[in-house]
Amino acid sequence: MDIRDDRGHPVGSYICAGKDTGRVVGGYTPCQMEGCRGVRIFVRWPDGSLTKPCSRGLTFNFDKNMWYIIGG
Ligand SMILES: [Zn+2]
Repeated sequence: MDIRDDRGHPVGSYICAGKDTGRVVGGYTPCQMEGCRGVRIFVRWPDGSLTKPCSRGLTFNFDKNMWYIIGG
């Protein structure tokens, strides 16, 4: 998969939130927040839940190919 967000980050990897690591499941949609140019990344968590955090609320670590939730 080679979907990228508006800052060129690949949207086909993993996301870390504290001790949990979710898997980016590919689908994404432009963020609906007014003035935000991020994308909503669809994430499947170990407990089976699906969330759609905005890429602008995340940081991307290129070394680990993984998103991190800011402040999380
Ligand atoms: Zn947003």
